[in-house]
Amino acid sequence: MEKQKDKIKRVGDKLSLEELRKVFEGAGLRLTHQRIMIYNAIMEAKDHPSAEVLYERLKKEVPTISLDTVYRTLSTLEQLGLIRRVQVFDYIRFEPDLSRHHHFVCKVCKKIIDFTWPEFDRMSLPKDLADYGKVVDHLVEIRGICKECLERDKR
Ligand SMILES: [Zn+2]
Ligand SMILES: [Zn+2]
Repeated sequence: MEKQKDKIKRVGDKLSLEELRKVFEGAGLRLTHQRIMIYNAIMEAKDHPSAEVLYERLKKEVPTISLDTVYRTLSTLEQLGLIRRVQVFDYIRFEPDLSRHHHFVCKVCKKIIDFTWPEFDRMSLPKDLADYGKVVDHLVEIRGICKECLERDKR
């Protein structure tokens, strides 16, 4: 499946229904009602949800939806370049924000918080890396304990 990223005006912005249909049809896929609902739900999610979490949210609105459909649609959206897959610990999560940012991950509640780090982004990479292959991206994952979890422990 060809990445559609370049054809979209502002990467990471929510597409109109018509734009979304074009992307799907361009990839030879049908834009079903359920796929639209899943797209809307992930574009509105700020918490990097897993397929399971998104499924729980959608089930209330779309009782006929299955976890499998949610999972497959998220994978499709990722392959189309519309959302990003994030792996944290053993969990696969998804996010709509394609702008350059890094993640603070709470070891306790597994919450992911976005942050930017322009100084890191500008840093040159170790020369040795060239021996291993071609670098396509470099992202930072900071692991820690979030404020809420620290507060809870105090009580
Ligand atoms: Zn936490
Ligand atoms: Zn993020």
